[in-house]
Amino acid sequence: MLNPDRVDLVRRRLGLTKIGFAQKLGIDRKVLHRFEIGVADLPRSALKTLCETSQYPEAFFSKDAFEYPNPTGVSFRSLRSLTAGARDAAIAAGALAFELDDWISERYTLPEHSLIQTDSRSPIESAAHLRAHWGIGERPIGNVINLLEARGVRVFSLVEETRHLDAYSMWRNDKPYIFLNTLKTTEHGRFDAAHELGHLVMHRHGGASHKSAEHEANTFASAFLMPAADLKAEVGWIRSFNDIIEKKRRWGVSAAALNYALHKIGRVGDWNYRSYYIELGKLGRGVEPNPLPPETSQIWTKILTDLWRQGIPLSGLATQLNIPERELSSLLFGIASAVRRQSDPISLRVV
Ligand SMILES: [Zn+2]
Repeated sequence: MLNPDRVDLVRRRLGLTKIGFAQKLGIDRKVLHRFEIGVADLPRSALKTLCETSQYPEAFFSKDAFEYPNPTGVSFRSLRSLTAGARDAAIAAGALAFELDDWISERYTLPEHSLIQTDSRSPIESAAHLRAHWGIGERPIGNVINLLEARGVRVFSLVEETRHLDAYSMWRNDKPYIFLNTLKTTEHGRFDAAHELGHLVMHRHGGASHKSAEHEANTFASAFLMPAADLKAEVGWIRSFNDIIEKKRRWGVSAAALNYALHKIGRVGDWNYRSYYIELGKLGRGVEPNPLPPETSQIWTKILTDLWRQGIPLSGLATQLNIPERELSSLLFGIASAVRRQSDPISLRVV
C-alpha cells in the first residue's frame, strides 16, 4: 500500500504542481486525486514512471508517516520573490533531513543545544548575550557552521537552484535546525546562518512572521558576526574601497555587510558608504571580492567517515533510508565524495 503523503512529498521535491505531476505520471488529475484521498491505488504504470523520474525507490513510497517541517516556523529571506514550487521543494528537503537526522541520532550522540531564548531583548543585545553565554567574547568567528554544530544546531545544506531562497530554520523536539542554500558565496552563507540563528534565539515563541522579524534577524547577524567593540578596535577611518575589501576577511563577512556595519558605527561617512555600495554593485550579483573558501560541516564529515569505515558508504545509507543518494548528498554538503577521496588510500593500505 502506497502512502499518498510520501508520493506528495516527492511531487514537492520535483517542484511540480498537482496538475503538472499528474501529467508527468501520465494519469488524469482525478486519478491522482482519488489516490490522494485513499479511494484508489496509484496505477502501476504511474508508480513505475514516478520511480524512474524521481529516482526514489518504490520502498520509499510505502514507508510510514513522516514529519513535515511546519511552514509557519520556516523563514525565508525573500519569501515574496520565491515561487511556491521552489519553496515547497526546499521545505520538503527538510522532511528528508529529519529522517536522516533521526537515523543518525539513533547511532551517534550529537551535542545537545546550548542556545538561549532572548525574546525580550533587542537584536544587538541578543547577539552580545549569546556570545557571552557561549564564552566567545568579541572575537571573530572562524567557521560559523562548525560553531553552530558544536552548540547543538543541526546544519544541513540545500542545493536549491533559486537565488531567492537563502536559508530557513526551525525548532523540532527542542532541537534547532538550520538549512542553508550552498549555491551562494561563503560570506553570504555565513550571514544567512547567523540570520537564522537570530530567528532561533529571538523568535522561537513569538514566531518570525511579524513585519520586523527579518530586520531583527539581519541586525542580529551583523552584531553577532561583527561586534561593534571589535570593529571599533580594529578599524580606524576607512580611506578607500580597498580598505573594506582587505578588512572584511577578519570577520568573514561580505564587503557589503562590512560597509553597512562600519557606516552604522560612523567609521564610514555617508558619501563613501554610497560610493562603495555602487562600486560593489558594479562587480555583479553573487560576486564577492577577496572571497573566503567554502565552509562545510565537521559533524557530518566525521559521521560519514565513520560510516564509511564501517562499510556503509553514502549509497548504503541511501539504501537503508530508501532516499536517493543525490538527495542525501545535497543535504550533507556533498561531503561523501570528499570522504571517498580521503578514504581510498587508507583502505588500499589496509589491503
Ligand atoms: Zn529570516
